[in-house]
Order: sequence, then structure tokens, then C-alpha cells
Amino acid sequence: MARQLLQHCSKCKAWTLQRDCQYCDDTANAAAPLKWSPEDQRANIRRKMYNVESKEWLDSLPSLEKISETRSNASEEE
Ligand SMILES: [Zn+2]
Repeated sequence: MARQLLQHCSKCKAWTLQRDCQYCDDTANAAAPLKWSPEDQRANIRRKMYNVESKEWLDSLPSLEKISETRSNASEEE
């Protein structure tokens, strides 16, 4: 996967194709996140990086409220 060419300076907000901002000599970063594909070649590495089999990772995920709570909240609003 090729690194994105367009860079965006976080300091002066200038757009550039270089890693170093030509206006303020700060470091410019990729303007958008890398493309994601279902055939993600680095999924294994990513899962290891986020330690997806740990309980901490599981607890960090967002969750919906229980359906019974949703129903009782909805009936209170009526
Ligand atoms: Zn800059």
C-alpha cells in the first residue's frame, strides 16, 4: 500500500507533497487516513497492535443499551 502523497501541516494548515512543511519547517502528516480494504493485508498486525483478544480491548468497545432499557426509556417519553 503506497503512502498517501498529499500532506497537511498541522501547525500552519498548509498543503504540501513533502514531509517537511515548506512554510514553517514543521512536519506535515498524511492528509487522510490510509485506505481500508476488506482484504486487509495487515489485519493480523493490526489485531496484534490493538491486542484484540484482551479483556481491556473488549471493554473499550462501545455498546448499545439493553433492549429492555430502550423500551422503558421510550415508554417514559410518551
Ligand atoms: Zn506548516
